[in-house]
Amino acid sequence: MDSAKILAKAKEYRDYTARNLSEMIKVPGFSTTEKERVLLLKKLCAEAGMEDIHVDGLGSLLGRVGKGKKKLVFDAHIDTVGVGDPAQWKTPPHSGIIKDGLVYGRGSSDQLGGAASMITAARILKELAYEGDFTVWFAFTVIEEDCDGLCWKYLIEEEKFVPDFAVSTEPTSCRLYRGHRGRMEIQIDIKGVSCHGSAPERGDSAAYKAARAALAIEKLNTELKPDDDGFLGKGTITVSQIKVQGPSQCAVPDQAMLYCDRRLTWGENDAIAIAQVEKALTEAGVNNFTVKMLEYAQPAYTGTLYRQELYFPTWKIKADHPLVRSGVEAYGDLFGKPPVVDKWTFSTNCVAICGRHQIPCIGFGPGDESQAHAPNEINRIDDLEICAAFYAALPGRLEKRA
Ligand SMILES: [Zn+2]
Repeated sequence: MDSAKILAKAKEYRDYTARNLSEMIKVPGFSTTEKERVLLLKKLCAEAGMEDIHVDGLGSLLGRVGKGKKKLVFDAHIDTVGVGDPAQWKTPPHSGIIKDGLVYGRGSSDQLGGAASMITAARILKELAYEGDFTVWFAFTVIEEDCDGLCWKYLIEEEKFVPDFAVSTEPTSCRLYRGHRGRMEIQIDIKGVSCHGSAPERGDSAAYKAARAALAIEKLNTELKPDDDGFLGKGTITVSQIKVQGPSQCAVPDQAMLYCDRRLTWGENDAIAIAQVEKALTEAGVNNFTVKMLEYAQPAYTGTLYRQELYFPTWKIKADHPLVRSGVEAYGDLFGKPPVVDKWTFSTNCVAICGRHQIPCIGFGPGDESQAHAPNEINRIDDLEICAAFYAALPGRLEKRA
């Protein structure tokens, strides 16, 4: 496709893209309560000329342009986190105000801006009569903020919707990202033996075991190794909560629970991380404990209940992967220079698409990662325009390499 034509259209639709983002911000939608926002998006996707617009069992919305043999999908999660303390917002969080080249409000960067640029890209592809090797799908997905990747685990495993390539449109400040660390949540339960507090030697304190366990986790964190090429850096583990219980304030406690946040680098997974914790506790002299992962189990707005353990696998693809190279080339065609190639700090739906299912992913999105979950969230209309052009240009570039 012609880069100059794509750029001209993205510029022509600059206000249209900003307006669509503003409309989305005005209809709040949080994890499991996205229904009204999905209805709005359905209308916007139809106006942009998408075909096969439909909602899956979990409530994610899909539409396509083109009818090639291979599937390229652009993904935007359309739920947001809450607004936090409303007093910290200088403009109301769901105002969707457009002013001085910025769009204001919760979700503007994380990540309704990506959704708005995707809709404009679909419109551009449609108007330029894209008829290439790809069916270009646009996925507006749900429940990401509460359980990243759940929507894509569902699409791939239950709906059998399996793309060949995916682009996450989470904020990257218009850089091209090719990975991020995975994560998991780990619960440690420890049993002791209670007795009267006046004679603690008769019991076996779960509190002291929990203390030894916490120090063992602190030590384990220092022993974790970085990945081979240093791209994702070191995994981490930290205790995020400790609870101790017993029969009374005048007793030795018999139960303790430690909750841990574990970030996983390349080569680390759930089984490895759990085995490390078990070994660390055993070496610290803690006995009578179990280590487990909890599950996410909240029904979607459609009523579907789809469970998943709180494990979000690490993913990355190589710098010379055809998808990364095509992304670099598409950006170069449009803007006459290479993009910055890097990684996210936070976690995205790519944990399921690439981490669980090895489908190659890249990230490219409008707005800054630092805006995510912060008060006074904004996005730049310049970024929206750049991303709309990039999404429209990528399919044509990718079909030369894939
Ligand atoms: Zn996000």
